[in-house]
Amino acid sequence: MIETKSYETIAANVAAVRETMGQAAQRAGRDPAEITLVAATKVQTSETIRNAIRAGITVCGENRVQELVAHLEDNAYEGARVHFIGHLQTNKVKFVVGKVDMIESIDSVRLMDAVEKQAAKVGVTQDILLEVNIGDEESKGGASRQEILELAQHALQCPHLRLRGLMCIPPAAATDEENRAFFQETYQLFVDMKEKLGDNDPNIDCLSMGMSGDYPLAIEGGSTMVRVGTALFGARPPWHPQG
Ligand SMILES: *Cc1c(COP(=O)(O)O)cnc(C)c1O
Repeated sequence: MIETKSYETIAANVAAVRETMGQAAQRAGRDPAEITLVAATKVQTSETIRNAIRAGITVCGENRVQELVAHLEDNAYEGARVHFIGHLQTNKVKFVVGKVDMIESIDSVRLMDAVEKQAAKVGVTQDILLEVNIGDEESKGGASRQEILELAQHALQCPHLRLRGLMCIPPAAATDEENRAFFQETYQLFVDMKEKLGDNDPNIDCLSMGMSGDYPLAIEGGSTMVRVGTALFGARPPWHPQG
């Protein structure tokens, strides 16, 4: 945990990010209203999360199961929706399924089956996104682009899952030009997936891409959901994904 950020600081940052989002949407000829700002709240305190929600944040994105559980116990997300955006281990699905509005990071049949089983057990329909490892990075979560269609078809066979779309995290070191290409490829994958699944399933309407360093590019590339941490809450201490 790091020190709590004031409402005033967060409100100013939210306004600045929304302004930048609006400009990017305008450049792309898109309606800003179709793009959701998800606040990536990892390592933030419950008080910071409350301040963010007061400042107009409607969706919080959580990375680590442990933090999610603690913030849920604290009622920190009251008034907002919650997305799970981090790597999820099958033995932890019970802490997440039915507790969050969307799981953005489904990347294998094995994980999907575990989520389906838990959703059936607790009697919910769980919204999910498939995470694509668009940079083909070995160290990273996410399914390969070749696996996405198969995963999508599997999701449609799971009665307690609602497939909503795709999420991607491009390589951290990517240049703007490379990011533009990654976003374009992910957008194309999203469109292809919708077409190949037949009758353009109206539930599939989410393309989660873009973080503090690249969300304007992602919006120009067709993103409907940007996950922003640093630009809202300031820099974080070094982050260890599996830590
Ligand atoms: C931390 C995180 C973000 C936000 O990153 P920033 O660069 O701080 O905006 C977005 N998505 C995921 C999955 C994250 O873990």
